[in-house]
Amino acid sequence: MRPCPEHDALGCPMTRINRVNGEGPVPCTIMLIGEAPGQTEDRKGKPFCGKSGSELEHLYLAKCANISRQNVYITNILKCRTNEKDRDPNQAEIDACSQLLFDEFMLVKPRFVGAVGRLAARWLFNGDMKMEKMHGFGYRVDTGDALGMPLYHPAFGLHNTTMMRHIMDDWTRFGQLVRGDTSVMWRENHGRI
Ligand code: URA
Repeated sequence: MRPCPEHDALGCPMTRINRVNGEGPVPCTIMLIGEAPGQTEDRKGKPFCGKSGSELEHLYLAKCANISRQNVYITNILKCRTNEKDRDPNQAEIDACSQLLFDEFMLVKPRFVGAVGRLAARWLFNGDMKMEKMHGFGYRVDTGDALGMPLYHPAFGLHNTTMMRHIMDDWTRFGQLVRGDTSVMWRENHGRI
């Protein structure tokens, strides 16, 4: 594992094999924000290309939301893997990477943002986000002209078929939101970004 020299100035403590940058068209109507690269992503230098990524691309995005990965800009809060156990990013790491993600957001200029997982939802919206209450609803994001939706992380559904059903429903709603379907519930809560 190599240290992360770009982030020294920001006090980033991460090590990694590869830095995993965001991927996709710029600008892009749809942006997905995940948490941090896992082992496969770290090896290949590409976001969401492991088991969770396959579920994300083929089941949730393509089948449920009817969206092709090619039309989505996909990134993570952290650009480096946390450690060999893929623990959750801590607040210091999130803070160190936050400006990069904010800059990315301003370049991509998304109209719809999927916050994939609790930490991404907390980053995009206010820090006290409760996933159980907020997943699958659309919320206005303060910066830019974007609507965001908190979505459960695909890893959550990998070994839990009941959970998978809920995640599929949320992604179906995300696809509806993107297509302007007015049956999707969205709330006037403002995001943090
Ligand atoms: N989980 C994430 O949050 N991001 C990835 O890129 C892979 C797995």
